[in-house]
Amino acid sequence: MKTQYPYNPNRLVIEESALNAAFTQKILSAFPDVPKQIVGQVNEIKKSGHSQYKKKEFIITDYKGDMIKTCPGCVGTVNCNYLVANIVQGCPFGCTYCFLQDYMNSGSIVICGNLEKFFEQLTQVQRNGFLVRLGTGELADSLAFDPILGLTDEIIPHLKNVPNVIMEFKTKSNYVENLLKHDGSEQIVIGWSVNPQIIINHDERGTASLDERIEAARKAANHGYSVAFHFDPIIMINDWESHYIDVVNKIFAAIPAYKIAWISMGVLRITPSLKSIIQERYQNSKLLAYGEFTMSQDGKFRYFRPLRVKLYRTILNAIRSYSTKVPVYCCMETDQVWQEVFNAQPSEQSELSLIFDRNTVYAGSCQES
Ligand code: SF4
Repeated sequence: MKTQYPYNPNRLVIEESALNAAFTQKILSAFPDVPKQIVGQVNEIKKSGHSQYKKKEFIITDYKGDMIKTCPGCVGTVNCNYLVANIVQGCPFGCTYCFLQDYMNSGSIVICGNLEKFFEQLTQVQRNGFLVRLGTGELADSLAFDPILGLTDEIIPHLKNVPNVIMEFKTKSNYVENLLKHDGSEQIVIGWSVNPQIIINHDERGTASLDERIEAARKAANHGYSVAFHFDPIIMINDWESHYIDVVNKIFAAIPAYKIAWISMGVLRITPSLKSIIQERYQNSKLLAYGEFTMSQDGKFRYFRPLRVKLYRTILNAIRSYSTKVPVYCCMETDQVWQEVFNAQPSEQSELSLIFDRNTVYAGSCQES
């Protein structure tokens, strides 16, 4: 028997000007019995004290700013061209290291009801004529709410009209049912963040197991989608070499290399304020006890550089034992680390042209999910 979906809202707050938008109406009709409040502006909600960590409240907004942005990137790191679409902000999962705990004012889930604006901006990105990598997984897990919001049902049909956009849905879930209703396409990349199961057990609460993620990836790849994997955040647990090599082995046992659009690697990175939140909220977590941290130029703690290089090289070598062609890149890393891991800069690696070639790809950068 199928497990009941656990992340339904228990309260809906709707910004008045978003009320008539088609996507808003779709959400409202999906939850006829859930209490609703209509407010003039979202700011009113914040002023009235809705700042607790409460992932069951959905706030549907009439978003006024740009829905598609270049990632902010990090000072001193190499940008891996990427645009982000923040249609949903917030996540039902509970990763110990999640930067949203520090970044978002409210623990509520914020959803842009005026999805038409995203489609308008998608057309404008298309007009620029560059090949674009675009993802929805910067401030949310891209598929965590897909069973109830059906965002992929809304977006996928539009992508046929923008052939130079490569859209990535990045997730730690195994919610691929909606994707399998549509024709698979290599223009659409389903990206899974992966970690050894022992880390998932301790620090990625509510997410799918590693085996469930890989099985979902296998289904998506068999259906015609491209898939991607993000070793991110890599955490230096005891016996990390064998744990991470095991993850690589599982991926390549299930997925043909030619179906993998890219694999990224990024170590744990934590701001001082997030470190305080983790220490207060997860007092039994060993997350900060592993490895040796140093403060980077972008104001985040990372493992000491030689440790990072060792981690990346180990995972890269395991990947290269299966495929020399799958594009592999480092997320938010310095030129020096790139050189030491790959013996080359991104621009010197032909398989990374999609990701790093400024002549063909709209400039942006990569962000953690
Ligand atoms: S790290 Fe990603 S999956 Fe985990 S809670 Fe944050 S947004 Fe959700």
